Amino acid sequence: PTGPALPVLSDGVRVPLAAGGEVEYAALDYAASAPALRSVWADVAEFAPLYGSVHRGAGYLSQRATELFERSRETVASFLGCRPDDRVVFTRSTTDSLNLLATALPAGTHVFVFETEHHAALLPWRRHHVTHLPAPRSRAAAVRAAEAALADAPAGAPKLLCVTGASNVTGELWPVRELAAAAHRHGARVVLDAAQLVPHRAVDVSELDVDWVAFSGHKLYAPFGSGVLAGRADWLDTAEPYLAGGGATRVVARGADGRLTAEWSAGEARHEAGSPNVIGAYAIAAACRALSAAGYGALAEHEERLLGVLRDGLAAVPAVRELSLFGQDAPRIAVVSFTVAGRDSAEFARELSERYGIGVRSGLFCAQPLVRRLLGEADADGDCEGPVQAIRASFGAGTPAEHVHRLIRAVRELAG
Ligand code: PMP
Repeated sequence: PTGPALPVLSDGVRVPLAAGGEVEYAALDYAASAPALRSVWADVAEFAPLYGSVHRGAGYLSQRATELFERSRETVASFLGCRPDDRVVFTRSTTDSLNLLATALPAGTHVFVFETEHHAALLPWRRHHVTHLPAPRSRAAAVRAAEAALADAPAGAPKLLCVTGASNVTGELWPVRELAAAAHRHGARVVLDAAQLVPHRAVDVSELDVDWVAFSGHKLYAPFGSGVLAGRADWLDTAEPYLAGGGATRVVARGADGRLTAEWSAGEARHEAGSPNVIGAYAIAAACRALSAAGYGALAEHEERLLGVLRDGLAAVPAVRELSLFGQDAPRIAVVSFTVAGRDSAEFARELSERYGIGVRSGLFCAQPLVRRLLGEADADGDCEGPVQAIRASFGAGTPAEHVHRLIRAVRELAG
């Protein structure tokens, strides 16, 4: 089959070409934001008339919206294989989810994170004691490095290991289960940045044995400014609320000393102050349903076939060099970053758009330590005049083979 596994809204969108005429848009930047699934859009359209304030209104629509919002939470919990007592907090994004968790760490927590992480996973911990682990060159080396660092850490302080599921730069899969096991052997908690993993592979927190997972709706075919932080209740339930405001409080009153005090809500409400993004939460749940129904096995098969075609096609262009941390044979999702010898990546990406109607991304992909390192290696003669940015193509459930074939042809032609 050459058609998309799951139809997306960008199917059939026509874009103008610089030389005149137009072509069907090839959305190959799923790792930044995936187009919405048509089924997600349809589900949201069905929900839209029932839109109302959640947890705040006595009217019928408020009650229905509250019920659907809470049901969305249950859908996400079951999609992620959450344990019975886990919390599923709706946030704005992965960035928001990880920053929330960073505010909920007990005092004195020692955080361990690879310096190869996306900035959203690398930076939120800076108010804590952080050990930055150097880039490992294999999956096994990653586990060994984490284990050694955790074993060396002084006992007593709470510990957290932040791991990524799949790299947004190389697409490479990290050994999450093994890293989580290593962390738990040393009494550390684990948070999984699943922003790139969950659109491509099933993420089951119980099976992976991670304590928390964070992801974004807009990479999961639900582009409505929503995200999720799901996992252990204890640290979340005892932390200061992420946002102080309505909904996060049970009682606000003057105490005996005349000062205003707040008694914070329990459960998810504690960290969801303000009117939540109901459509966003509903859309995430709709995406979870659609992906579960399609089956991750079928989605991965579709992607892997096209990924093989893309990587073989790029490898056949002598000027192209693919970025990789764990080596060419490491398992990966449909994210490929590369440079083209003698070509500026930003200009190259612009030409892909203007001349071929292909949407990719150029840059350092919010993972500057990793990309700079890999670009340095791509600068084969070491004269420091190599590429300062990379080009990234990424795709997923909705991608037809033609988009991938067009990219290969375009790279071949533009690379000269
Ligand atoms: N982690 C990874 C691995 C990502 O790829 C991204 C998005 N590029 C993020 C975190 C942050 O996601 P968001 O921008 O939706 O907060």
